[in-house]
Amino acid sequence: MRCDCCGKRKCWLESFEDINAGNKVLHLCVKCSTLVYKIRDVEKSNQDLKKSLIAELESRMSENSSDFKKWLDDKVLKVQ
Ligand SMILES: [Zn+2]
Repeated sequence: MRCDCCGKRKCWLESFEDINAGNKVLHLCVKCSTLVYKIRDVEKSNQDLKKSLIAELESRMSENSSDFKKWLDDKVLKVQ
């Protein structure tokens, strides 16, 4: 299993986060899922922090993370 954001391969003692993205399940490593939760939890008034968290997450994305990017745009960024 690989992280759908950064492409990191799952280690045996690592727990990946499962994300239900409609017709498929995405898997995120701990670092990427932590960033997603931070982006979700950031206060509306703190757009600078949110932007920097999104930039950090985007910098982790690999060329294979288009499904994850779409999910992030639809379910996290548009919702807020
Ligand atoms: Zn990752």
